[in-house]
Amino acid sequence: MHNVVFVLGPPGSGKGTICAKIQENLGYVHLSAGDLLRAERQREGSEFGALIEQHIRNGSIVPVEITCALLENAMNNSGDAKGFLVDGFPRNEDNLQGWNKQMTGKALIQFVLFLSCPVPICIQRCLNRGQGRTDDNEESLKKRVETYNHQTFPIIEHFEKNGLVREVKSERSVEEIYADVVEVFNQTAKV
Ligand code: UDP
Ligand code: MG
Repeated sequence: MHNVVFVLGPPGSGKGTICAKIQENLGYVHLSAGDLLRAERQREGSEFGALIEQHIRNGSIVPVEITCALLENAMNNSGDAKGFLVDGFPRNEDNLQGWNKQMTGKALIQFVLFLSCPVPICIQRCLNRGQGRTDDNEESLKKRVETYNHQTFPIIEHFEKNGLVREVKSERSVEEIYADVVEVFNQTAKV
């Protein structure tokens, strides 16, 4: 059984940055759904490249069969990790249902780390981060925020109802955010 922590929050809320620190210090393996999709998009011979690029530019969500297969493969190929940080997934109802269908009995959701941050700050961070992503432009960002508000936030609320959400405010320095994140992981380890 794979232990899983879902890491969610608006685009630019710091998911990737914080996950890298958790991986380095707490022994969880970081799996970014967006990075896995970008790698698949580039993979020679992939039949999904064009479809993935279209969704990424549009800020819409790739069909769950593709994303979930990439995540499951990555988990199965990571040896025996203490757990996995699944960053940026599940983002909508289709993602959640597809995950439940494919991963029930194979993965245990420990909790959901929710990095909350005001959207205007997040947008500014994305515009400033200069990673050369095809979706870090104003037009794509508008659509990504729309998708987040209408599709992803309701998923976070769903997990909240199940008592799984641990919210950490991320409009702060990486050090401050990370200190609270460590607390969250320590508390969970004790339960
Ligand atoms: N994406 C997706 N399914 C996922 C994760 C990402 O379809 O489970 C796509 C979606 O189009 C999203 C893009 O990949 O807007 C970038 O996702 P990432 O998590 O890298 O970026 P974020 O918006 O969180 O900064
Ligand atoms: Mg990311």
